[in-house]
Amino acid sequence: MAQILDGKSLAQQVQTQLKQHITAITPTVGRSPGLAVVMVGDNPASAAYVRNKERACDRIGITSFGRHLPADAPQSEVLNLIESLNGDPRVDGILLQLPVPDHLDAVALLNSIDPDKDADGLHPINLGRLLRGEPGLRSCTPLGIMQLLKTSGTELAGKSAVILGRSILVGKPMALMLLEANATVTIAHSRTADLAAVTRSADILVAAIGRPELITADQVKPGAVVIDVGINRVVGADGKGRLVGDVAYDAVAAIAAAITPVPGGVGPMTVAMLMHNTVLSYCGRTQTQLPPAPCP
Ligand code: NAD
Repeated sequence: MAQILDGKSLAQQVQTQLKQHITAITPTVGRSPGLAVVMVGDNPASAAYVRNKERACDRIGITSFGRHLPADAPQSEVLNLIESLNGDPRVDGILLQLPVPDHLDAVALLNSIDPDKDADGLHPINLGRLLRGEPGLRSCTPLGIMQLLKTSGTELAGKSAVILGRSILVGKPMALMLLEANATVTIAHSRTADLAAVTRSADILVAAIGRPELITADQVKPGAVVIDVGINRVVGADGKGRLVGDVAYDAVAAIAAAITPVPGGVGPMTVAMLMHNTVLSYCGRTQTQLPPAPCP
């Protein structure tokens, strides 16, 4: 059976370390770090994610400046809110919870966030820094995956890494981070011919497609490290809803070297990296000592 990459417990360790760092430097600065999560509309999944993030803030000593706008809020109102948060000295990180309602231009909104407060690492400046290998705020989900790979002792240099999915949120920044770690990277997507042949070549397989249990054991190389980013709600034979990933967990766990569970794998690490980015930004803005690397 595969080693289970326990994101929940690693995320707790990262957050404990961040809490200690915040406790040590807050008295010098005179205020705690601040994170503003902006949510537009009432998507129930988004509301649950926002609650999770705000709870994590509470646990480690980050002040939440959550802002909830109605589903019909016009672009100008969301832009004005982001502008006011950009100028608010108590706010170190700003996150726009995605997806936003269809009438809004999400790209324009993301681009209006001050790059130094871009806790999600999705601003073009921060994505450009990642592309160039320069320091900057990194996208939370791929950054969390890199910590899981690091702590599991997975060798990346020279290995074949296949990423399923090419979104700006996960697939593309993931590819760049694995490339920076000297893996040989392939991105596969909905138009890839013979997907199974590509996935079977992977020493490290990252599935970020949003299709419940699409990746089956015959599509995975025995001994591969499998990272399941997908979060899909399905209804079981008992009529009850549950969350599954993009990977058929039981069958793939039987042949993989390591695998992340859903839930409890990538999701908690995404939140932990959001906390890390907020503290990084706080320390940068207050010119205090930066927090230690999440997983040395
Ligand atoms: P997205 O819809 O923006 O992108 C999905 C990608 O999958 C696309 O690039 C598409 O080309 C590819 N794809 C779709 N069907 C495919 C198929 N049959 N074969 C191969 N490729 C296919 O989604 P996203 O925002 O990147 O998120 C992907 C999944 O990860 C979703 O389930 C999302 O909920 C989840 N997610 C989880 C976290 C976390 O913290 N765990 C964070 C972000 C996203």
